[in-house]
Order: sequence, then structure tokens, then C-alpha cells
Amino acid sequence: MSVQPAAGPFVFNVAGLLADPVGTHRTHDIDVATLDLPDELVLSAPIRGTVRLTHESRGVLADVALATALAGECARCLRPVSTPIELAFEEEYLPSIDLATGRPVTTEDEPDALRLTDHHEVDLTPSIQDAISLAEPIAPLDRPDCPGLCMVCGLPLDEGVHDHPVDDIDPRLEALRAFREDTSE
Ligand SMILES: [Zn+2]
Ligand SMILES: [Zn+2]
Repeated sequence: MSVQPAAGPFVFNVAGLLADPVGTHRTHDIDVATLDLPDELVLSAPIRGTVRLTHESRGVLADVALATALAGECARCLRPVSTPIELAFEEEYLPSIDLATGRPVTTEDEPDALRLTDHHEVDLTPSIQDAISLAEPIAPLDRPDCPGLCMVCGLPLDEGVHDHPVDDIDPRLEALRAFREDTSE
């Protein structure tokens, strides 16, 4: 059975790096338009920055310094919001194959360690996906003092005039507004 090499913008072949002396590092400039993301997350800016890979005694250390932005909507007025996020982390990858013999190495001692692929690759994709998920803002705002939506007409309170005649007020909304006034003291 042949295993296909992993592919993607965050997969780096380190066979050459591992042949260089311990301490050698290579810096990769990253400019990636988009990435498949879990939880219906959508990027609103390219992923840019650097990934530095260092040959360490035990394997490869990946030093990730990337920035991008997440698309979302304002928690108060539902306008689109782009939230800048930074992805900065280090991750150590241990070999899964002995480079000299080509044989699988024993991984039982450290079952939780991240491993290079069978093709001597660092695959940063899952770590970057996780880092983006963790950076998702809980309640993004298009501006810090966004007043939200008008309880009467449903349009943003910072657009237009909301001097509505009392007759226009939907009784259900009026009840809701009374409730808000009660609880906002
Ligand atoms: Zn808003
Ligand atoms: Zn209004």
C-alpha cells in the first residue's frame, strides 16, 4: 500500500533539513489565500507571515508566526465584521520513519507527540486550523460602541432617524422594550 504524500500550503518536506546539522533552520514566507476550516469559519484576509523550521536533536521545531482575519457579523447589528487574528505557536515534530534506515520508529513511548509524516513532512495544517478556531471572537462588534438594532423598525440605530410614531410599535416589541428597560437599571 502506498501512502500519498500530504499536500497543501502548510506541508513542508524536511528531509533536506534533517540531513543538515542540528541547529540549522529554514524560514518559509507564507502567503496563502484561504484554508479549509472547521465550524463554518471563513477567513476575510490571506494568511501571511513566516514558518521557521529548525532541525533539533529530537526532530523538527516549527515556529509559526502568522496573521489573518476571520469573517463574522457584529453581535449587535449583524453588519459584517472582519476580526484580525494572530497565530503564534511552536510545535515539535518527532520522526515517524528513521531517515537512515527507512524503518518506522517506535512511537509507543510518546503516543501523544506530533510526528513527521512517512514522507518526512511537517504538516502544520491541523495545528493552524485549531489555532484559527481558538482565535474566533465570541461576540465581535463592528465598532466598540455599536448601538445595535432599533427595537421598532429593526434597522441599525446609528443609521437614519428612529423617531417612530407610537402607533408603529409592534405590541410584542413594546413588551420586549419594557422588559429591557426594567432590566437595564
Ligand atoms: Zn454593530
Ligand atoms: Zn427604528
